[in-house]
Amino acid sequence: MSDKEKVVIIGSGPAGWAAAIYAARASLEPLVFEGAITEENRLAGTLPLGQLALTTEVENYPGFPSGDLESYFDSSIEGSRRQIMAPHQKEGVSGPELMELMRQQAANFGTRIITDDILEVDFENHPFRLKSLEGKETEALAVIIATGARANYLGLPSEEAYKNRGVSACAVCDGALPRFRNKPLAVVGGGDSAVEEATYLSKFASTVYLVHRRDELRASKIMAERALSNSKIEPVWNHVVDEVLGDDDNGVSAVRLKSTADDSTHERDISGMFLAIGHTPNTNFLEGKLELTPKKYIRLTTPFRTYTSVEGVFAAGDVADDYYRQAVTAAGTGCMAALDAERWLGEKGF
Ligand code: NAP
Repeated sequence: MSDKEKVVIIGSGPAGWAAAIYAARASLEPLVFEGAITEENRLAGTLPLGQLALTTEVENYPGFPSGDLESYFDSSIEGSRRQIMAPHQKEGVSGPELMELMRQQAANFGTRIITDDILEVDFENHPFRLKSLEGKETEALAVIIATGARANYLGLPSEEAYKNRGVSACAVCDGALPRFRNKPLAVVGGGDSAVEEATYLSKFASTVYLVHRRDELRASKIMAERALSNSKIEPVWNHVVDEVLGDDDNGVSAVRLKSTADDSTHERDISGMFLAIGHTPNTNFLEGKLELTPKKYIRLTTPFRTYTSVEGVFAAGDVADDYYRQAVTAAGTGCMAALDAERWLGEKGF
C-alpha cells in the first residue's frame, strides 16, 4: 500500500522549503523528501539542505545582513522604526543556519519531512507514483521537483580538504569574505562563469589568475574581452590545477599548476581557488520521465511559470536554472511552484 499525497516536494534547498512553506499555508499538507544522508550523497555534494549548507557566511540573502544583528539594528535603523520592531534573538546567518531556519519554518506550518531520496518516478499515470531509496512508495496528485544542482569539482583530494577554507565554487557567495580581500586568487575554467567570477573577484582580490586548460576562452566574446582587459586578471593559459597547497590552520596558501603542453609544474601563492567548470543538475532519476535540456536541466515549458513537460509536475530552483543559480532566485521559484501547484490542483478539482 502506498500513501496518497496532495503535493510531494523532492529536494530541500531554498526552492524546496519555500515551496513547502507556501504549500503548507495553502492547506496542501506537503510532504518533503529532503534527501538521504549517505556517504554517496556526501561525496557528490547532494546531502539534504542543498548547496547552501555547504557554504559558510551568507551575506547576499535579503533580510540577513552579516554580523551582530542587535547592534546592526541599533546603529542602522532609525529610532522610531526600531521601536516597532519585535526584539530579535540572533546574529547574522550562515548557509547551514539559513537552511535549518527555512526547514523549521516549513515544519512549523505542518510540512512533513522524510529523510530519504526519491529514486524512481512514474509520471505516466495519475496519481503520480514515487519510490524512495528505502523502498517507500508514495502517490502524489502534484509533484514539485527542487533537487538542485551540484558544482563540478576537479576531484583532487587536496581540493576536497580545503573546501570552505579557500576552495569555493561560488564567487558571488564567498568572494567578499575577509580571507580573500586584497589577496591573490585563482579561478579555474574558461567559460562565461569563469570570466564572470574572475571579473567579480577582481573587485576584492589583489590579482586573479584565470587558469584555463586551453589557450582560448569558451566564454562569449564581450565577457572574455572585459575580463582580459582587466588589469587585475592574469590569464594562465594551457594549465590545470595539479594540487591545492596549504595547512590546517590557514587553509589554502598556494596552488601547483601543471602545463597541458609539457607537464611542467610551477606554484603560485593564492589564498583562494574558485572552480567555474560547470554544474550538474540532480536529474538522474528523471531521465526519460520528463523533458530535460541537452545539459540535463528540467525544461520549463512556459515563460515565468514552473510548468514542466508533464502536467501536474512543477520544477523550482537550480534543477531548472543554469543561469541565475542564487539562493534567493531558488526560493522565489519555489514559491512560484507551490502557487502553480495549488492553482492546478484547484482547476482540476482535486
Ligand atoms: P561552461 O560553458 O560549460 O564552461 C566550463 C569551462 O570549464 C570550460 O572552459 C571548460 O574548458 C572548463 N572545464 C570543464 N571541466 C574542466 C576540468 N575538469 N578541468 C579544467 N577545466 C574544465 O560552463 P559555465 O561557464 O558555467 O557556463 C554555463 C552556461 O551558463 C553557459 O551557457 C554560459 O554561457 C551561461 N552563463 C552565462 C553568463 C552570462 O551571460 N552572464 C554567466 C555565466 C554562465 P573547455 O573550454 O576546454 O571545455
